[in-house]
Amino acid sequence: MNKNSSNIMALTPNTSNKRETVCIYGTGDFGRALGHKLIQSGYPVVYGSRSTQISNLIPKDAEVLGHAEAAQKAAIIIIAIQRQHYNFLTPLAEVLRGKVLVDISNNLKLNQYPESNAEYLAQLLPGSKVVKAFNTVSAWALQSGTLDASRQVFVCGDDVEAKQMVMNIVRALGLTPVDKGSLLAAQEIENYPLQLFPMWKFPMFLSLGLTAFFFFYCLALDVIYTYIYENNNFSFFIAITIPNRVCPVMALILLALVYLPGIFAAIIQLYRGTKYHRFPDWLDKWMLCRKQLGLIALAFASLHAVFTLVTPLRAFVRWRISKGIIAQVLSNKTEPLNNTNAWLSDSYLALGILGYFLFVLLGITSLPSVSNNVNWREFRFVQSKLGYLALILCTAHTLVYGGKWFLSPSAYKWYLPNIYILSLIVPCAVLVVKFVLIFPCVDKPLTQIRQGWERNPKYSE
Ligand code: NAP
Repeated sequence: MNKNSSNIMALTPNTSNKRETVCIYGTGDFGRALGHKLIQSGYPVVYGSRSTQISNLIPKDAEVLGHAEAAQKAAIIIIAIQRQHYNFLTPLAEVLRGKVLVDISNNLKLNQYPESNAEYLAQLLPGSKVVKAFNTVSAWALQSGTLDASRQVFVCGDDVEAKQMVMNIVRALGLTPVDKGSLLAAQEIENYPLQLFPMWKFPMFLSLGLTAFFFFYCLALDVIYTYIYENNNFSFFIAITIPNRVCPVMALILLALVYLPGIFAAIIQLYRGTKYHRFPDWLDKWMLCRKQLGLIALAFASLHAVFTLVTPLRAFVRWRISKGIIAQVLSNKTEPLNNTNAWLSDSYLALGILGYFLFVLLGITSLPSVSNNVNWREFRFVQSKLGYLALILCTAHTLVYGGKWFLSPSAYKWYLPNIYILSLIVPCAVLVVKFVLIFPCVDKPLTQIRQGWERNPKYSE
């Protein structure tokens, strides 16, 4: 009976639209921006400040009082003050007893203090309920309304009720609260705004390293070799020719590197006969940055497309075409159309265009706004099935381009293989192993393992 009546109470709509007063300590940038937003959302705001003088910058509907007086007006107090000034709160311990204190502070360095700012606040004021929130939202984003990128607000705290109260405010501001658990999570949340593209580091360094390697490889074979042995000065290749060789090579290799960790994971699971053993750390990290690798690959592919489109404008290309025409005129012979070459060139272009189209599709579906709108199966279909198709098309694009030329001795200057031959090693290896993995005799046990089956179960009945 009691249970039912409490349910009815919970379902009864709250007819009163009046929101509870929120107190903000500190009239600095963040305090003012948050105050504006709270007032817009219907919350009465009272500031606790060292100076009770009203300034033009403070939202006009807000009250400004001394710290103790302001705290008495609200159950929730947002501490918009830097951690190093927190000890001014100790004499206010009695006034703040039982109140919800929202710690929004950030630090200047990762793990700057032994404990998080929120835990430090909780130690200073053990009688208050400390909740960490809002530290990943900037004052500028609050003020300008450009909150799309930072719509999520990470919240953590030991008191469930206090955390709920803060999450209700977050929702009322049009933001999305993400419950990160107890106050122990505060350190992690405080480190978020200090991280500099953490998932991009490995893909960036790898791309820079490989790009430098391939650039100097081409420089040696296409410029230095031709200068030494053919006495041709092709140094201008540095501007377009070499970048237009390096970009497709990088795009293809990075795309293959997106799928390679999945291949390793499948082999490891088949070997171990279980999915309940952790992958090695390097593989875990590699899998986590596949999206970044794919986006960098897409950037290289797009550059390749642009470099290719400007080819007819290049003086060198126009000179070569006119040289061919003059040679035909001088020898009074018209070269007949070589049908095989025409087929090869059109197929190569068609494969490149289709591969690039799928590449773009993969990039678009990896954007959070798109991936949030497709279900898991649709996402996997695009990222895995269409992704492999993109890899097949791009590999075929390179193979058709190289064709018989890869086998000719002139492609091996200084006995080194051409850059395109190098670029095919990883993609071909990925595609061959993937082909083996989809054989029913391999795919069936792998699927079973991924559904929880174990070859040597640890806990048998
Ligand atoms: P701020 O502009 O420097 O304001 C800090 C406020 O703290 C001052 O206006 C002052 O308010 C008060 N204060 C300064 N010294 C004090 C002292 N000795 N004792 C008591 N109060 C003192 O800083 P802010 O940018 O608003 O940042 C405030 C907090 O929000 C920081 O912990 C920061 O990490 C965090 N945060 C800021 C942003 C942002 O975009 N700015 C984003 C996320 C988190 P009164 O003069 O009214 O007393």
